Formats: sequence, structure tokens, C-alpha cells
Amino acid sequence: MKVAALSGGVGGARFLRGLLAAVPPADVTIVGNVADDLEILGLHVSPDLDSVLYTLTGRSDDERGWGRAGETWNALESVAELGGESWFRLGDRDLGVHLVRTQLLKEGATLSEATERLAHALGLEAALLPATDDPLRTFVETPAGTFPFQTWFVGRGHRDEVDAVHYAGAPEARPAPGVLDALAAADVILLTPSNPYVSLGPILAVQEIRAALAARRAPCVAVSPLIGGRAVKGPADRMLARMAGGTTPAHVAAPYAGLIDALVIDDADAADAEIPGVRTVVVPTLMRDVAAARRLAAAALDAAGAPA
Ligand code: GDP
Ligand code: CA
Repeated sequence: MKVAALSGGVGGARFLRGLLAAVPPADVTIVGNVADDLEILGLHVSPDLDSVLYTLTGRSDDERGWGRAGETWNALESVAELGGESWFRLGDRDLGVHLVRTQLLKEGATLSEATERLAHALGLEAALLPATDDPLRTFVETPAGTFPFQTWFVGRGHRDEVDAVHYAGAPEARPAPGVLDALAAADVILLTPSNPYVSLGPILAVQEIRAALAARRAPCVAVSPLIGGRAVKGPADRMLARMAGGTTPAHVAAPYAGLIDALVIDDADAADAEIPGVRTVVVPTLMRDVAAARRLAAAALDAAGAPA
């Protein structure tokens, strides 16, 4: 059974860790978000691809909730001392990855080739594909102005309410090599519990990816990132309240209209489980540990009629 999963960073990665415990990793292709990538200190940083890489290869700091375990911050302290750009938190171990990625890109590798090199070196058994090798960047429109994603998220601590998002480069972006093949070959397509607007939105804004999902033959199952109408972490609930008009399962499903067959929601949202045209599956969705993530992944596969 082949699985294709669309993922953002931390929330997606936690789910994927459960998925890889439930099915053979070699049967899984992950399509990752690249629209929060940034160039900083001369380096190409791909935060969501790296969250997936670190989490799935046992290198993530699960207590802090992002970045690498055993991280130190010497390089960033030195940058700050020199008056360099230190607002984006890059640890020493993390920087090593950005150095290698940036060199590969400078030598002419595509982002998907560079990602494959990193994933192979770190021992990732599933395939990790950037959604696109083309420049694709999320911008958020807020009452305080329009900001590049990381300026808003990290720089401003996502304090501004978001009226709209747009994805620069989306009309021209082509899916990275292997993405359409993975979607066509999949027996199940999963949308991980990532932020619908700023993690999965940009992937779905790549027109050929959206078209492939709209014309899917395999069932597509999404997992809600909200529990009791609240995000476990981050701004997804505030964004859904403002842009979709609420935080019920129907609002969570709205950005995926026409693209999903089922939505996995938490017990805490069971009262609002009726969504026209989308089957809902009600299970505990808090991923306290790998075992809980594995049960959630199994429920998502089950919802697709493909039990693990
Ligand atoms: P980012 O790119 O690192 O911001 O992460 P994602 O977009 O992949 O995931 C963020 C989302 O994951 C947030 O909206 C959280 O609510 C959701 N999330 C995190 N942990 C859990 C969990 O245990 N269960 C569920 N259902 N959602 C979670
Ligand atoms: Ca992200």
C-alpha cells in the first residue's frame, strides 16, 4: 500500500512519525511545504522540510517543540554580537544542515536534489519531496500590513490577525519531480494535521498538485489540527476563525473543499461532526507520544478504507 502525505513542519512531522510506525517507511512519500523557506545570513533555510527530517530521524527537540535535540547557540550569539541578523533562531547543529544545503544549491542542485542528499545522509527511509523546486513564498496580509511569512511568524510572533494569505510564485510553480507520480501511485493520500493556510495551503496552491488531488482516484483523508476548536500550538485556530468564519470541523474542512473524502477530528469536536460531503471520523487526536501518533495515523488510514 502506497501512501502520499502532504505536510508542513512540526504538527505534520509528529503525525508522520506515527505513520512511519504504522506502515513500511519505504511505501511513504512526503510532500513538504517550502513556502516558509527563507534566505538568511546567506543561507537557504527550509524550516518545514527540516522539521520533518529531524523528527523522522530521531533528531528533534520534542520538549522545545522545534529544532534539533542537543542544540547549542554559539554561532547565533556570535552573529548577534556582530550586529548580524539574529531574529531567526538558528542553532549550531541546525546551521550545519543549512550550510550543506546552501552549498549544494550554489553548485546547481535543485532543492529536491539537495533534500534527497540530506535525507539520505540522515537516514530517512521515507521519500521526502519539496512540493516544488520553484520559488514559492507565503505572504500574510494583516491590519498592520503585508509581511513575508517568517517576518510575521517569528519576527512579530504571529501577533497580527491575518485577513488573507497569498503564495507568491504559485501560478508559475511546477510540482517537484516525483510529486505527481507519488500522488498518482498512492493508494491513500493524507493531509497531515498541519496549518491549512500556511503549511498545506501553499502546497495546494501549486496548480498541478491541486488538480491531481481534485482528480484523485485514491481516497484523501485530512486530519484536523484543532482539538476542541483550539490549535494545539500556533495560530491555526485564529486564522480559521477569521478567514473561514469559525473553528468547527466544517471550517477546518473548508480550505480543502473538493479535495478530501474524510476528515479525522477529535472527540472534543464530536458535537459538530456533520459536514456535508465529507465523512468524519472521531478519535483522540492529541499526539502525546509516538504510540498516540501511530494510533492517529492508523485511524486516518482506516478512514481511507486502507487499515494499517
Ligand atoms: P509548523 O509548520 O511547524 O508550524 O507545523 P504544522 O503546520 O505542520 O503544524 C502545526 C499544527 O499542528 C498546529 O495547528 C497544531 O494545532 C497542530 N498540532 C500539533 N500537535 C498536534 C496534535 O498532537 N494533534 C493535533 N490534532 N494537531 C496537532
Ligand atoms: Ca511551517
